[in-house]
Amino acid sequence: MSRPADPLAAPSQAAPAARLEAPKDALARPLNSLRVSLIDTCNLRCNYCMPGEDYVWLPWDDILDVDETGRLVEAFTGLGVDKVRLTGGEPLMRREVEQVVERLATIPGIRDLSLTTNGLLLARHAEALARAGLHRATVSLDTLRADRFRQLTRRDGLHHVLDGIEAASCAGLGRLKINTVVIRGFNDDELVGLIEFGKQAGAEVRFIEYMDVGGATQWSIDRVVARRQMLAALEEHFGPIRELSENGSAPANHYCLPDGTVFGIIASTTEPFCRTCDRSRLTADGVWFLCLYAAEGLDLRTPLRDGASTGELRELIAGTWIGRTDRGAEERARLNSLRGPLYQIEDLRKDPHREMHTRGG
Ligand code: SF4
Repeated sequence: MSRPADPLAAPSQAAPAARLEAPKDALARPLNSLRVSLIDTCNLRCNYCMPGEDYVWLPWDDILDVDETGRLVEAFTGLGVDKVRLTGGEPLMRREVEQVVERLATIPGIRDLSLTTNGLLLARHAEALARAGLHRATVSLDTLRADRFRQLTRRDGLHHVLDGIEAASCAGLGRLKINTVVIRGFNDDELVGLIEFGKQAGAEVRFIEYMDVGGATQWSIDRVVARRQMLAALEEHFGPIRELSENGSAPANHYCLPDGTVFGIIASTTEPFCRTCDRSRLTADGVWFLCLYAAEGLDLRTPLRDGASTGELRELIAGTWIGRTDRGAEERARLNSLRGPLYQIEDLRKDPHREMHTRGG
């Protein structure tokens, strides 16, 4: 998987690399939250992410091994990153997922180590992930109906996801979150049912507006259910909903039902929140994207494999971050009626890094 380290690289007993000043980008946004994709493959084919069957996968030899992933994350944590979310494709399809968690759980400075999964394999891994040091998990679940699950993902397996959710709460993987992409005419009639399910499962449900990124080649604004429309539908059933005040850069707005149930809405399509965005993404082959919509990323795998020290990697990362001006969702929103899918299939085939399942959502 990886070339032997450069003998010229700093010997391991060298003093830990200097912690640089936590950089702020050109809009004064800190570098706090890193999403790390462990693999670009997935065991589902959700049609808003992987509408096709066959894909241009990342070359296996380019995939970072456990230690390389650890070394890169260490470089980021020395610059202020304290939230690390493991993603995919489907991260539980990566055989060494527990080893990666174990490696990252030892890195000082990470106060929130989480993982987002489609839940199909969660029942099998939940306890081992908790033992390895994972703090919490988020499960992507867009419907509670087996027929719709099959229609959306072209696979069966809803029962496995529900088993996974139960196993995760039994394994003590923190307060579970459930992410639901809401699509008009598909699952917008399940908001109440999903909230009720979340209550029973002890999980916080977050509804996500349908986004035009990656493989969302069928995206159109008509299929987007806006935050205010979701709230109106939920108020009709549950009664007055109170908005909870938020501080920090988390993407979700939180709300409280009359019975105290808390849920979230991520309104990245109609009310983008780029102004406070402290998130960036590392693909499984070590390419760093400063924004979900960014056309290009920075290759960190090559300098890493060429023996760059942690200090040198930090300088490269900090030097890049300070020039960041990305506000992708805001720019997309300004397109208004001209807005369509970001990419078509032929565009995605040209560069697998454009795919959502490569960038890790
Ligand atoms: S679109 Fe880009 S800048 Fe805006 S919130 Fe998403 S990742 Fe951040």
